[in-house]
Amino acid sequence: MTVSHILGYPRIGAQRELKKATEAYWKGACTRSELESIGRELRLRHWQAQQDAGLDFVSVGDFAFYDQVLNVSLALGAVPGRFNAAAEVVGGEIDLDTAFRMARGRAPSGEPAAACEMTKYFDTNYHYLVPELHDGQTFTLASNRLFDEVDEVLRAGFTPKVTLTGPLTWLWLGKTKGGDFDRLTLLDSALDVYGEILARLATQGIEWVQLDEPALVQDLPLAWQQAYERAYHRLQSAPLKLLLATYFGGLGDNLSLATRLPVAGLHIDAVRAPQQVESVIDRLGPHQVLSVGVVDGRNIWRADLAALRERLLPLKVRLGQRLWLAPSCSLLHVPVDLAQESDLDDELISWLAFARQKLDEVVTLARLIDNRATPVDEQRLDQATRALDARRESTRIHQAVVSERLAAVSPADSQRQASYPFRAEAQRRALKLPLFPTTTIGSFPQTDEIRAARRAFKAGELGTADYQARMQAEIAYAVERQQALDIDVPVHGEAERNDMVEYFGEQLEGFAFTRFGWVQSYGSRCVKPPVIFGDVSRPTPMTVRWSEYAQTLTDKPMKGMLTGPVTILQWSFVRDDQPRETTCRQIALALRDEVLDLEKAGIKIIQIDEPALREGLPLRQHEWQEYLDWAVESFQLSAAGVANATQIHTHMCYSEFNDIIGAIAALDADVITIETSRSDMHLLDAFQDFAYPNEIGPGVYDIHTPNIPEVSWMVDLMEKALEKIPAERLWINPDCGLKTRNWAEVEPALANMVEAAKVLRQRY
Ligand code: GLN
Ligand code: ZN
Repeated sequence: MTVSHILGYPRIGAQRELKKATEAYWKGACTRSELESIGRELRLRHWQAQQDAGLDFVSVGDFAFYDQVLNVSLALGAVPGRFNAAAEVVGGEIDLDTAFRMARGRAPSGEPAAACEMTKYFDTNYHYLVPELHDGQTFTLASNRLFDEVDEVLRAGFTPKVTLTGPLTWLWLGKTKGGDFDRLTLLDSALDVYGEILARLATQGIEWVQLDEPALVQDLPLAWQQAYERAYHRLQSAPLKLLLATYFGGLGDNLSLATRLPVAGLHIDAVRAPQQVESVIDRLGPHQVLSVGVVDGRNIWRADLAALRERLLPLKVRLGQRLWLAPSCSLLHVPVDLAQESDLDDELISWLAFARQKLDEVVTLARLIDNRATPVDEQRLDQATRALDARRESTRIHQAVVSERLAAVSPADSQRQASYPFRAEAQRRALKLPLFPTTTIGSFPQTDEIRAARRAFKAGELGTADYQARMQAEIAYAVERQQALDIDVPVHGEAERNDMVEYFGEQLEGFAFTRFGWVQSYGSRCVKPPVIFGDVSRPTPMTVRWSEYAQTLTDKPMKGMLTGPVTILQWSFVRDDQPRETTCRQIALALRDEVLDLEKAGIKIIQIDEPALREGLPLRQHEWQEYLDWAVESFQLSAAGVANATQIHTHMCYSEFNDIIGAIAALDADVITIETSRSDMHLLDAFQDFAYPNEIGPGVYDIHTPNIPEVSWMVDLMEKALEKIPAERLWINPDCGLKTRNWAEVEPALANMVEAAKVLRQRY
């Protein structure tokens, strides 16, 4: 029998119950024991779903009130001193509030302290809490949560497999604090605790533990590869079976390493790296289990069961009982249940599978290749085939005009007419901006009134004309404030936008929106990515009306505001029936039309935001260039159609720019605004070292805090920038958009910013 299992299930709940309960707890609206009982209910419900689907194991250890990487840090007692001091250790165990303080700096009990850093988990949109590692640190088992959950699952009568982030990946995700040192020096102590955990789980009767080691799909230094051997040789003495789980890509040069490790089983990603399956089998030990991840854990498309069956049958012949089936990775990265999507049409629904549906897909596949398919399985197979055939042929997906237009794109389309120095001249004449021009990144405060108006409009309670009038009033207010502040390049403020991707997706062909398709982003925060299912095109202008109106209110050049093609792609579920780059280029062409329409409407400065450019980088460095080539080309395609005198801006935040500075320069935006204030302008070094040729607006204040920046502080920051970039090429702006702030914070902050520009103009 082929074992079917999953690597993890979404924990937020189909109705985001966990989000609501956790936030209620933080606000004091529910007690800790109420929160714990919601957690128990959700775990039970999710185990039940897995058992009902017919999986051979239910997954334990994938639950977390905040983050599964944080859970391991807690289990190892890796709590930074600033929290420990305040920690209320209950029965030798780190309590939940300490975990919340580590995650967000505060909790209902205990003293606030600076939260741990948070960053993206591999190439996903999920953020984990970065383990803080100190030289000479030792670990001790400091949490019983996992064991309690095991008791819970056993009491409820399920057959569990435990999942836990592996020791090397945990260290790999960690950062050294208080001086640099080799993180691997901490491995032995971590392994002591992992050994203890595994022994405890064995006494509880656990047979299989899945250790997640996605670090194995990245470029690992030799010392880390060797550490894998050392670590897993030590862990093999554990009195239970280990399943080493790798995902998000192929093992590549770690393939023979991974297959050499003394573990009972190996899980590999056969969605992102289908070609590795045969080579892994060739090297597998005679008794080792191979779990093949065939159902996409990173996307929402229905699996092609017939095709997968064909692919799997020969593997079944080779591996027999040693073949296991699973989704490619934890289902944490997809929405919970498609059954709730009452607003999507039946055809679209028939193309999709969320976490709950993916359980069925795995189970059915296992039964199909075992020749023990039930009538339900046959029906699912049949439905999948029909849906996929229909999807391939659907007229909703393929638009001849879009593919013809894409095929006709020439290299000239992604090049501006003249090079930057000529354009800069033309723009100087057209725009007549002072030295150190001031601007903002686009959004102004999204007030409760704005959100309420949008909700009423969407609910049909506010008519189109009324809604437009309301938004125009907001725009007029924002423009008037900017006039009063004497900002050189005003913006309309983005009042009409709910979200910088959704706003465009809603107006483009080829996009669909779910009602409950939430995916955890971090802690209690969830995102609802749009679904790009078909060829992308732009039926009508999307932003022109607002920008045009805003321009009528001022003599200064109004900056138009768009989200770039790479960011729209990166923050959506993308169709899997054509290369991502093709979809990206389609979006780029749609945006190109918007850019040209803005220009035609008299908008002389257009910003195309690309905050997600860097996060799209593949996990393996040798794949970077190919990605950057099409990402850059897509941006250029959207931007390059304008006249020399039209100024193109772009904006990027939360980025280390070193790795991609060449690509940033290749975008050839006339002006780039970046987030730099918290780095004390050090992020500009990459631009200086590269001799970046165009204009830069290094953010002079952090918009994430309500603090009002002082004039002298911003002047000092700009003086630092001036050591790296000549005055003629510097702009002055905040780090990012202001939508999360309120006007009482924004006005004095911007007044000081404009004052800082004036001080600098005196000096230069
Ligand atoms: N224009 C957007 C804003 O100002 C940019 C947001 C972002 O970079 N994430 O809100
Ligand atoms: Zn930003």
